[in-house]
Amino acid sequence: LSLSDTVEAHRICVCVRKRPLNNKEVTKNDIDVVSIPGNGTLLLHEPKQKVDLTKYLDNQVFHFDYSFDESSTNDLVYRFTAKPLVQTIFDGGMATCFAYGQTGSGKTHTMGGDFSGKSQNSAKGIYAMAAQDVFALLKQRRYSSLDLCPYVTFFEIYNSKVFDLLNKKAKLRVLEDEKQQVQVVGLQEMYVSCAEDVIKMIEMGSACRTSGQTSANANSSRSHAILQVILRRRNQVHGKFSLVDLAGNERGIDVRSSDRQTLVETAEINRSLLALKECIRSLGMDSHHIPFRMSKLTQVLRDSFIGENSRTCMIAMVSPGMSSCDSTVNTLRYQGFPNFF
Ligand code: ADP
Ligand code: MG
Repeated sequence: LSLSDTVEAHRICVCVRKRPLNNKEVTKNDIDVVSIPGNGTLLLHEPKQKVDLTKYLDNQVFHFDYSFDESSTNDLVYRFTAKPLVQTIFDGGMATCFAYGQTGSGKTHTMGGDFSGKSQNSAKGIYAMAAQDVFALLKQRRYSSLDLCPYVTFFEIYNSKVFDLLNKKAKLRVLEDEKQQVQVVGLQEMYVSCAEDVIKMIEMGSACRTSGQTSANANSSRSHAILQVILRRRNQVHGKFSLVDLAGNERGIDVRSSDRQTLVETAEINRSLLALKECIRSLGMDSHHIPFRMSKLTQVLRDSFIGENSRTCMIAMVSPGMSSCDSTVNTLRYQGFPNFF
């Protein structure tokens, strides 16, 4: 992995990040079944059983644009994923970065970072680093003449309903006009004057996301969170960066023992992740038909899938443990898509 900040020429970048085994896994003697042998590859050593019950490891290889092992920092991941996309929005394009994976695999750690205050720089997430770079570029002379104004929105989609994280989780309606323009009605769009402003919004929204255990969407792992940095020029959208912390795609939810709400949530998550895959696939194929109406998630992200200058980065997060194997396979298979783009 070279450390240059080169902008990738292609429109879709698909990466994978493995987190370290955590204390809980170590305590349970869970073993690490994921290895990152080199640039862009991932090996999964899936435990299987023959008919005669002898156990063996089924080694499978997966290919990505980049693969990050457990020693990689948020900073490194950022440089190869979201950072090149900051330029896109200044050039008048739409940029989107997704964090995908089962609950506990590191999506929020990667996107939002760790605000617990244990460490400073190393724990900064992609949200904050992207915000810093947006303001660094705004100050550059070639962009300062454009009079770009930065705004932030932060919202959550749970069971196809949209909630404003910058406005006490107000429930919002999504409308589409005759030109197929999608609008989230009443979504707070906050003017921001520095990266610290953005970080304050993120902290406020993240607190709003996890609080209120009795409210409808108590469990943040079951919802998609979308942070958008919008550059406006004479009140028109010039460019938009959407950073998406997707709902957990875990496998093995027991249909018999789960309550109705969990089943509805799971069906909804699967439906939206399938829709997302279809939309990204259409983007990669330069297709004119983008099936964005398949889910609320893809509907509100419609702008990301259209236009000449749309670029997307998908970061698949995987847990290393054998106990997570089913979900990991599921995540990597979704990510099998570099092959079909
Ligand atoms: P998710 O959002 O996918 O459910 P989290 O980001 O909340 O998962 O991560 C679960 C736990 O694992 C958190 O305690 C987080 O700090 C930790 N974690 C995740 N990724 C890493 C990493 N790359 N290095 C160290 N700890 C991590
Ligand atoms: Mg999370």
